[in-house]
Amino acid sequence: MMNDTKAAVVPVTQPFLPPLEEFMPWLEQIWKNRWVTNDGPLHHQLEQALCEHLGVEYISLFSNGTLALIAALQALDITGEVITTPFSFVATTHAIHWNGIKPVFADIDPVSLNLDPARIEAAITPATRAIMPVHVYGNPCDVEAIERIAQRHDLKVIYDAAHAFGVRFRERSILSFGDMSVLSFHGTKIFHTFEGGAIVCRDAQMKRRIDQLKNFGIQDEVTVIGHGINGKMNEVQAAFGLVQLQHVDATHAARARIDQHYRERLAGVKGLHLHRMLADSSANYAYFPVLVTPEFPLSRDELYAELRARQIAVRRYFYPLISAFPAYCDLASAVRENLPVAEQISQQVLCLPIFPMLEREVQDRIIDIVLATAVARAA
Ligand SMILES: *Cc1c(COP(=O)(O)O)cnc(C)c1O
Repeated sequence: MMNDTKAAVVPVTQPFLPPLEEFMPWLEQIWKNRWVTNDGPLHHQLEQALCEHLGVEYISLFSNGTLALIAALQALDITGEVITTPFSFVATTHAIHWNGIKPVFADIDPVSLNLDPARIEAAITPATRAIMPVHVYGNPCDVEAIERIAQRHDLKVIYDAAHAFGVRFRERSILSFGDMSVLSFHGTKIFHTFEGGAIVCRDAQMKRRIDQLKNFGIQDEVTVIGHGINGKMNEVQAAFGLVQLQHVDATHAARARIDQHYRERLAGVKGLHLHRMLADSSANYAYFPVLVTPEFPLSRDELYAELRARQIAVRRYFYPLISAFPAYCDLASAVRENLPVAEQISQQVLCLPIFPMLEREVQDRIIDIVLATAVARAA
């Protein structure tokens, strides 16, 4: 129940919703087409629009990002073991498990917060078939080092790019690295279709295979190839994506302003480390993570509690680590000694609110709380 007397909670993120009027003509179009799902005209239109916007050639839309991750592993016939990061949203590892594959956790790099290539290489066994890294917070992985490792050991690379919509690395879409990249269009992501996702792949033949897999493996009326699933995006989702796409430049600019304001006001605060993108990549401002280090007067959890008590719904992305959950903690690679950097970062990270509709006044209130609690504690 809502409580009107309490100050409204400021969420860490809020889905961007374009004016409803813009959505209505698309709905009318669906009613006119009488085509509600299964590779409909709007689905097709969104695939083309996204290819252009993102600068990629082949994209297959899905009903959500998790099914896209699961299907990506299926499409490449991955078995055995897959090396992945414990510092991500739990869906990354779930997708591996749902394929009957054993996830193997490797530690992250303390600067990028993405899989450390040296630790990937150390985790390879004769059963390893693929690597599933995550571009955490939209910050590119060391894609070149990962490519070299994959070539050396004949491994596939599937990037969980759920955070990386629109990110470019050395003038190239980050989605064009590896064998495949998987996007999520969930409501919490910077481009969303309420629920949704996609696989970006390298060639038309693979796209055809993915499109069949997401439609039960149906090839034609009498032929089913492989163990397909229902991962189709429907026309209402696609319509919403087309509307949303017209706003991505404006929402990106709004996020950039918020990011900059945080950086201006929080720069130089002792013990607060502001996460930065790689030099060669463009930011999408999907998240605003800070590391609360021991030099800060409060621990991460104390700062979290202070903000929460004042209705600021900051989040500890990603804490606990995936490797700490009961479903995965018994894996040999899940032991803390194997993941010291991820362990430490997950104890220090705090994501501050960032979304296009966040007002400057509210943002200043958040920053004031951070600064004031630090001063009060230090005194
Ligand atoms: C959101 C997210 C997913 C899952 O996407 P859904 O569309 O919610 O299924 C997977 N991996 C990461 C890193 C995510 O942030």
